[in-house]
Amino acid sequence: MGKLILAVLVFVLAWWILRKYRKSMTREPPPQSGAAEDMVRCAYCGVHLPRSESHVSSGEFFCSEEHLRLRH
Ligand SMILES: [Zn+2]
Repeated sequence: MGKLILAVLVFVLAWWILRKYRKSMTREPPPQSGAAEDMVRCAYCGVHLPRSESHVSSGEFFCSEEHLRLRH
């Protein structure tokens, strides 16, 4: 009986650690990938945004098409 309780306790502990580990694993990537991506600055308003979300025109980056148009 004591062994069974111990086995259950070990199982619960292992499951709890695994859950915590997975949580920390899934929580870490977003800021890392965000920092790894090139950040560019809008030439119009100066806001920083990922390069993939920016609009590029003649070597300058813009946060939106509107700012791209306003600049030119
Ligand atoms: Zn802008």
